[in-house]
Amino acid sequence: MIKDLDLVQTLAELDKKHFLHPTSPIKQQQEQGPAFIFTEGKGVHLYDVMGKSVIDGMSSLWNVNVGHGREEIGKVAMEQMSKLAFTSCFATFSNEPAIRLASKLSQIAPGDLSATFFTSGGSESNDTAYKLARHYWILKGQAGRKKIISRTKSYHGVAMGATSATGLKPFRDFTNSLAPDFCYVENFSAQSLREVIEAEGPETVAAFIAEPVQGAGGVHVAPKDYFKKIRNICDEYGILFITDEVITGFGRTGKYFGIEHYGVAPDMMCFAKGVTSGYAQLGGVMLSERIHQELIEFSEGTLLHGYTYSGHPMACAVALKNLEIIERENLIENAEIMGQEMLKGFKWLQSNRKIVGEVRGLGLMGGIEIVKEQKFSTPIAPLIVSEAAKRGLICRSVTFDGQDTLVFAPPLTISKTEIDQMIDILHDSILAFE
Ligand code: PMP
Repeated sequence: MIKDLDLVQTLAELDKKHFLHPTSPIKQQQEQGPAFIFTEGKGVHLYDVMGKSVIDGMSSLWNVNVGHGREEIGKVAMEQMSKLAFTSCFATFSNEPAIRLASKLSQIAPGDLSATFFTSGGSESNDTAYKLARHYWILKGQAGRKKIISRTKSYHGVAMGATSATGLKPFRDFTNSLAPDFCYVENFSAQSLREVIEAEGPETVAAFIAEPVQGAGGVHVAPKDYFKKIRNICDEYGILFITDEVITGFGRTGKYFGIEHYGVAPDMMCFAKGVTSGYAQLGGVMLSERIHQELIEFSEGTLLHGYTYSGHPMACAVALKNLEIIERENLIENAEIMGQEMLKGFKWLQSNRKIVGEVRGLGLMGGIEIVKEQKFSTPIAPLIVSEAAKRGLICRSVTFDGQDTLVFAPPLTISKTEIDQMIDILHDSILAFE
């Protein structure tokens, strides 16, 4: 045990000195060291360097859909790396896993999305979508169409374009110069989209982008008829409709893709995370058959956009195995059923604990709002998150825009017993706080 404590101490000191963490409270890291140093994962559980076990109620950032510790994915990665770890896909060079994955994606994607441009993650996918949309309009002789419209509570990542599209202001205010030609509309208001298009001039707008369910913004589920209205408005003004399925893709919401709940199809779709369940870094943008055909028809020369890792053989092989597991184990159906159980649990908390306000969710994405009380001057959700972590549950708080919300996204493999454990821990954490 002493040895373990020494190891933890050493690692924590090295972390503080040398590791600048993504999206983390920088002073807290220096004062308290890293919150966890994880060493292993199995199913919905993570284990840290001290052997403490926690339920990964966030799938490690809405990501590990098939759960942790899948040896068969590790085996595929090792085999692919041993055979062909990497070649580039520039200059039409190709490889079998990338070809097979692009083909598989065309079978499972909504509408007629049929061609995939690969990236290494969600932010790159978003920047790619904006550039491809603008490039498409240049080819079509409408170079004036360059504005990208997004929504006020949206999160699209942290690359320059993706940050610029992100509606949540604190992410944009982090830096002092962003990309031009981005505008924002009110969350879930089709009328606001129409007004902004009219005000900006339809001939200046390239695309509208939206997450089918907003995750980082606090798990906000769109009204049933919202996306039909959006699709109609985009068609009316000839604007491309892009869905950002970085979180909602690959079964998370109880359907393969979140937009399927709304009975419409996008022109382009960004994805990442669940395509490999985080076992390798991979994302991409899918284009509809029509857009793909038009690109082929109007393009001359080279498509001058590409990442070194676009079509990475090992990442694509991992994705194929991951999708096989999702289908073989009926994880999309499990997400739907367990999502209902999770929401039932939230409703039970709502009737038992007075600080639990609105609860919401779709599939295995869930949110709990904390009721505002005069006596609290700062948000409470972050305190409940630390209480829950001590008791063995990882979840996140969202405090943007005056919200005080807890969010959840456990692996799609979660069982009823594990949902019950989550709810029990939450109950005790809220009670401890009250
Ligand atoms: N889009 C959405 C909807 C996301 O939630 C995220 C990340 N959570 C991103 C894009 C950015 O993805 P990444 O962090 O892989 O760059």
